[in-house]
Amino acid sequence: MAYEFKCKDIGMDCGFDVKADSVDELIPVIQAHAKNAHNINEITPELFGKVKAAIKQD
Ligand SMILES: [Zn+2]
Repeated sequence: MAYEFKCKDIGMDCGFDVKADSVDELIPVIQAHAKNAHNINEITPELFGKVKAAIKQD
């Protein structure tokens, strides 16, 4: 089973996507991407909710 996150699914004009075996592995990758690509240094609870809602399970 795999989990996938696509940045465009939270409304970003961005082609980033990431797959991992668990949500726990996905979150740090998304955090690093948010920081490096979008200058988002802190994932707010609101943003975190959006991110979690956008994560799809294969
Ligand atoms: Zn992005």
